[in-house]
Amino acid sequence: MKAVCWYGKNTVEVETVPDPAILNPHDAIIKITSTAICGSDLHLYDGYIPTMQKGDILGHEPMGQVVEVGKEIKKLNKGDRVVVPFTISCGRCFFCQNDQWSLCDNTNPNAWMAEKIYGTSPAGLFGYSHMTGGYAGGQAEYLRVPFADVGALKIPDGMPDDQVLFLSDVFPTGYMAAENCDIQAGDTVAVWGCGPVGQFAIKSAYLLGAERVIAIDRVPERLRMAQEHGKADTLNFNDEDIFDKLIEMTGGRGPDRCIDAVGTEAHAGGSFDAVLDKAKASVLLGTDRPHVLRQAIHSCRKGGTVSIPGVYGGFLDKIPFGAAFNKGLTLKMGQTHMHKYMQPLLDRIQKHEIDPSFIITHRLRLEDAPRGYEIFKHKQDGCIKIVLKP
Ligand SMILES: [Zn+2]
Ligand SMILES: [Zn+2]
Repeated sequence: MKAVCWYGKNTVEVETVPDPAILNPHDAIIKITSTAICGSDLHLYDGYIPTMQKGDILGHEPMGQVVEVGKEIKKLNKGDRVVVPFTISCGRCFFCQNDQWSLCDNTNPNAWMAEKIYGTSPAGLFGYSHMTGGYAGGQAEYLRVPFADVGALKIPDGMPDDQVLFLSDVFPTGYMAAENCDIQAGDTVAVWGCGPVGQFAIKSAYLLGAERVIAIDRVPERLRMAQEHGKADTLNFNDEDIFDKLIEMTGGRGPDRCIDAVGTEAHAGGSFDAVLDKAKASVLLGTDRPHVLRQAIHSCRKGGTVSIPGVYGGFLDKIPFGAAFNKGLTLKMGQTHMHKYMQPLLDRIQKHEIDPSFIITHRLRLEDAPRGYEIFKHKQDGCIKIVLKP
């Protein structure tokens, strides 16, 4: 089959590789019909995530048709259309039983690698380094889905791929980010980053009762989408002092809830701390560039919540913990507990409360993935989300 393979910083290639096979009785094989490039794939493309190996198959936002099932598969049949979440969960361990699916104890065969850095390991992930299991990803013609009965969500007939594909990651991720804010009636929610997760966080904040959403980015197309589709007020951090502006817009108090939908590779114009982060990361003195997180903590109102769907990997420098402590902030974060959100959000799509296809700006063939990564990385041509079709 054809697959998008990682070969190092700024290098992906479409290669012919062996088709996946059933390795375990709980596996299913799906033929991919749609798959997407994610902002967190750029952390791999930019060489930020350790334990990648040359030839690794990328991608964690797949959907397709079941073509083969293992002996223990009970719920899926050949021919079913399914969306596959980016996290792999067993369904039986302490964490899965407690609805903390992304913390599954049984799906990372390389847990020891993560344990060295994190103490204990989170769940295995598709296409996201050997530290999270070394699983082949979904930017390919076929995908092996471990624990397929637990993870793969069946899609009713008649719903097009475009509407349901983003149940694989960015819609639930934006939704959990908003849910983690514990939004109360009348709340103002500030969202840093208007990429796909940010766009879904904005929409979800309103679904969960926010009065007003303020969206922060620097890319005009993203800000326009936040305004037009998300009904957010927008701020461009190249033009405005974000802290001053947020304080002014909230009557001197600060936003009640702040969402960092940017994560580890924050751009921050020429701000001093961001320049320093970039310099430190480039010489391996720091692992992340947490400018947005600092600003979110700094701007959040006393007693408010900072929710972090943006991905961080290592040891963050100069986090204003004193501000977080003295303002009594709640911080919530983590990989999305996908399995908890996929069915309820599919229901919302079916009830026409939201149509996630609005974020698609580009459609490419799988073979064109290398060009897609470049377009996406440099946000060329108004690119917000790319769907790849094998
Ligand atoms: Zn993703
Ligand atoms: Zn589990």
